[in-house]
This record gives sequence, structure tokens and C-alpha cells, in this order.
Amino acid sequence: MAQEDVFKKLVSHCKEYGYVFPSSEIYDGLSAVYDYGQYGVELKNNIKKYWWDSMVLLNDNIVGIDSAIFMHPTIWKASGHVDAFNDPLIDNKDSKKRYRADVLIEEHMAKFEEKISKEIEKAREKFGEAFDEKKFRETNPRVLANQIKIDELEARFSKAMNANDLAELRQIIIDNEIVCPVSGTRNWTEVRQFNLMFATEMGSTSEGASKVFLRPETAQGIFVNFLNVQKTGRMKIPFGIAQIGKAFRNEIVARQFIFRMKEFEQMEMQFFVQPGSELEWYGYWKEIRMKWFKALGFGDENYRFHDHTKLAHYANAATDIEYKFPFGFKEVEGIHSRTDFDLKQHQEYSGKKMQYFDPERGESYIPYVIETSIGVDRMFLHVISATHREEELKKEDGSSDTRVVMRLPSFLAPVKLAVMPLVKKDGLPEIAEKIVHELKFEFNCQYDDKDSIGRRYRRQDAIGTPYCITIDHQTAEDNTVTIRYRDSMEQERIQINQLKETISEKVNISSLLKKL
Ligand code: ATP
Repeated sequence: MAQEDVFKKLVSHCKEYGYVFPSSEIYDGLSAVYDYGQYGVELKNNIKKYWWDSMVLLNDNIVGIDSAIFMHPTIWKASGHVDAFNDPLIDNKDSKKRYRADVLIEEHMAKFEEKISKEIEKAREKFGEAFDEKKFRETNPRVLANQIKIDELEARFSKAMNANDLAELRQIIIDNEIVCPVSGTRNWTEVRQFNLMFATEMGSTSEGASKVFLRPETAQGIFVNFLNVQKTGRMKIPFGIAQIGKAFRNEIVARQFIFRMKEFEQMEMQFFVQPGSELEWYGYWKEIRMKWFKALGFGDENYRFHDHTKLAHYANAATDIEYKFPFGFKEVEGIHSRTDFDLKQHQEYSGKKMQYFDPERGESYIPYVIETSIGVDRMFLHVISATHREEELKKEDGSSDTRVVMRLPSFLAPVKLAVMPLVKKDGLPEIAEKIVHELKFEFNCQYDDKDSIGRRYRRQDAIGTPYCITIDHQTAEDNTVTIRYRDSMEQERIQINQLKETISEKVNISSLLKKL
């Protein structure tokens, strides 16, 4: 199936099974804004717990905070967001569609990368075991030619971005004959900068309202509280502050479902270190964060780092962790070595010292910062892309059937256990209800007695429930139930009094955290 169709199916599955709905749908929706449904919110909460526990629970030098969305407007001046949080936009005059100039160029570069990957795959098939990818990359003329194109374009692109040279960005698009994906033409406007922050007013107009912004990142709430936390928590460097919260960006070019939204959630951790040690810590956090992704078991080959050549104004090193979505490798998390830029700026703009007294060094300094920043919604999209499958099932009579299944890791699954009486009589529903009543204190259970057992299994597969138990007539005789496993679809009989222990162990987050 084409990757585009895979993605379309995923989006409609999310809507059909209560994961994600378009916002304000009865009013025809609101662009790039989405609501999470009854199962979506559970998955989202489980993702957040996995992140939070891996930061705050597992590290005794990391604590959490929850700062307000509204902040003093000068914060955004100090951080550089008022002047520099811009996207370079370009319009195609024929289709009237608007694009981010940087994204058009990056997608163009990705096409050369795709060509290289295809050559490599072809050669791998041809040479089998003996294939040496490194050597092939260094010697194959077609790969080399494409790599030169990428390197040249990358160098020109990052120079233009670093210099904020909008005319040059446009020229790169023209010179590389990049066409509008809708009209197919090269009839482009000039490139313009567009600030991504949402503004609103605080206070009544008669008193003179002041302009405030909806925060475009949660990080600044951490920076301005750095000394509050350090002093009240008696934290010693190196230490980290973690936060999960909403962020807002006026993304004009919103595509790909919840990949790019106007209102989204971030999970950010700022790690404060001694000046000079930041690149070592940057390497450390790169490794730790990659491990966090890989522990989920979605295939190590589906992740990669993308080190930045164009650095944001506050960073001295930066990388993205990318996941292979149905629409290609894309960023899920950013890791930045932010230097002392933010704290220094806040010291200057507020006039308050943002320094830490280091008892080991016997001196005060502004710490350097490593940031790890991941979008909850993008992680959500990653998890559902990695687990949503349409599977063909061979039946005993030789015919085949299909099932849609979300192979979610048990800890992340919204519902852990579905409890189903085989029939709605003979006291079976009562036994099922009693089991739910006992187990609901341990994990999320769902009682389901509608339709045939086969259809109920399919429904639970589609929302990703890892375990289903069926209460039948034998249950009334010997207190056993059938447990059915989502992934293997195998079934076995088990004592009711073993259920709690068997399932708790499998759905508990601790086994996942122990892999980190
Ligand atoms: P992009 O290059 O995709 O615009 P970014 O580099 O601006 O992203 P950061 O500012 O580093 O993103 O934000 C950190 C993380 O927040 C991203 O890795 C992503 O997971 C998430 N994120 C950023 N913007 C959005 C958005 N508009 N919608 C959903 N998630 C987002």
C-alpha cells in the first residue's frame, strides 16, 4: 500500500475509534487544531507518564515544575522570540498555496537522500551478506553525485538561514527548480518573515491593556524559575528541571495531521551544568534520549539523529531525533546545547542576578544549559504510526480475513483488559461485572457484552487492548476464564484469582523503565 494511503487510514482510524477528532468539527473544524477522544487522552497520559517518570522518578537531580502559560511580555523580548521566532514563507502565485521556504528546500534535499537509499537497497539485495555499505557510499558514482548535490545545497542553505538572507532562500528555490506540489509551477513570490507567536491582551482596555503572548515553548517558564527551584530544592549543579505543558505557534503551513499543530503540548527538560562541560552533557543526553525511544521496541533502524548545521541563535550544538513516519524521517525531539544565552538575557532584561554559587569551585557563574524537548502530540503520532497494522489472517478453512490492530506496548494501551461474558444470561454478566469491579483499582478495564465474541475481539484489537478475558459456563463451575492475547491471538485458561498478578506485571510501567 502506498505510504500516503497508510497515513490516510491511520487518520481515519484515529477518528473512528475515539483517539483524535478534528477540533470544532460540527463547525467544519479549525485548521491544525485537534481534540483527543476517550482513548486518545489515555494514550497521551501514558506517554506523558513514561516521559515524566524517566526524568523525575529515575533521576534524583531532576525535579518537575508547572509554570503558567501567560508570562511577562518582556520574557519573550529577552528570549529573542519577539524579534527572531519567524518562519520564512513563500507563496505560489498559481495555486495560491503558502509554504515554508526552508521546508521546501529540506524536502528537495530529502529527495536526493531517497535516491541514495534506493541505490543502497538495490546493491544490498544484489550483493547480500558481502555488502559493505560504507565502501559503497564512498565509491559508487551515482551515490557520490547525489551526495555532492546534498552537501552543496546544505552549505548554501545553512549560510542563507544563518544570515537571514530571504532573497537567497528564494534564489535557492529558483536555482533548484523546486515546483509547487499543487500547481507544478515555479511562479513564486518573494520570501517574507512571519512571527509565530499568538498575542492577546491582558487587563481591561479602559485601564490600558497590555499585550501578552501565549507561550511558544515551555522552556522559558523553567529559565525564569531556575533560582526559585535551585534555592528551595537546594539543588546542586548539575541538575535538571522538567515540565510538561501546552505551547502555541501560529503555524501557517499546517499539514500531516497532529504532526504540526497550532496548540500542542511539549515535554521539556533543561539541564543546568558548569560552563565548559556542556558538550559532554549534550552527548550524554543524546544517548539517554535515544535509549528512551528504543526501549519501546519499535525497531532501532527507524530512528536516527539529524545534527544541525544551522544553529538557532541560542545554541552551540543541536540535533533532532527523527523517526521514520509513513511520510519519511521527521523530527520528534530536539536536543540543544543552549549555552548560557537564556539566563544571561533574563539577567540583563530583569536586572536580577541569574547566577549560581558553586561550592566546589568557590565562585558564582551563569550555568550552561542542555535542553531536551519533545512534542507529546508528535510522540503520539509516532506511537500510533508504529503500531497501527492491517493484518491478513488465514482461517482454518483456507479462506482469509483481515483485522486492524494497534500493537501498542501494554503500558501505553488506553484499555488494558476487556472483560466479556460469552452470553448475556446464566449469571455470566454478574461474574464479569464482579471481576471488573475488583480489577478497576489496578488498571483500566472495560466491560463489553455487545455483539459476538469475534466482533468484540476485533473492536478491542482496533483500540489496542492487550488482554481480553471471556467468562463462559465453565467459569461458573471452576473459576477459570479464557485469556486472549492481542498480538498472538492465542488463548489459554487461567484462574480468576491469578488475573490481577498476571496482568499487573505486564502492564506496569516499571518493566519499561528498567530498560532505561
Ligand atoms: P519544526 O522544525 O518541526 O518546526 P522545531 O524545531 O521548531 O520543529 P522545537 O522548537 O525544537 O521544534 O520544538 C521541540 C519539539 O516540539 C519538536 O521536536 C516537536 O516534537 C514539538 N513541536 C514543535 N512545534 C510543533 C507543532 N507545531 N506541533 C506539534 N508539535 C510541535
